[in-house]
Amino acid sequence: LTLAPTNLHKVLGDIVTLQKRATEGRTISFQQQFDPSIPPILVDEALLTQLFLNLVKNAVEAVDNGGVVRITSRVISDYSMTQKGERRSRLVAVEVSDDGPGIPKEQLEQLFTPFFTTKAKGTGLGLAICQKIVSEHRGMIKVESAPGTGTTFTVMVPLIQ
Ligand code: ADP
Ligand code: MG
Repeated sequence: LTLAPTNLHKVLGDIVTLQKRATEGRTISFQQQFDPSIPPILVDEALLTQLFLNLVKNAVEAVDNGGVVRITSRVISDYSMTQKGERRSRLVAVEVSDDGPGIPKEQLEQLFTPFFTTKAKGTGLGLAICQKIVSEHRGMIKVESAPGTGTTFTVMVPLIQ
């Protein structure tokens, strides 16, 4: 883990540029909604890139022509109880959402298990790697999905400058 001040929005923007090129010929709309107040954050840039690339690739693979992949960033407060009482820390939350078919409820628990895949040529390793990278950064990853509506993965990492 090599931590250095990293421009989160450049990482995300570069991934979108790459995926736009990779999906040429399909009509996928990439939307970016970034909180401009987010400062450089202390993360491993290579690992963070791998993390979000995996999530964006999954979103791209989930949508049809005309699909929408949206990435948003914001700062949220984390109220966690410590022995000394309530302590507030700040987190950066990045959401990667798509309007694909969604994920059946009974699969949600297995998603992060290595080798779980529903794809003919899937490795089932993408999300397992994502979870490892997130935990190395002392963060959290969660998924919300409504079959027929779409899927949102949210990554939260401590805002350390
Ligand atoms: P892979 O992409 O190789 O299948 P992943 O670990 O990246 O492996 O994903 C595991 C499984 O989670 C996928 O096979 C798919 O069933 C499901 N999944 C992940 N992201 C999405 C998404 N955005 N929409 C629908 N299903 C998803
Ligand atoms: Mg994948």
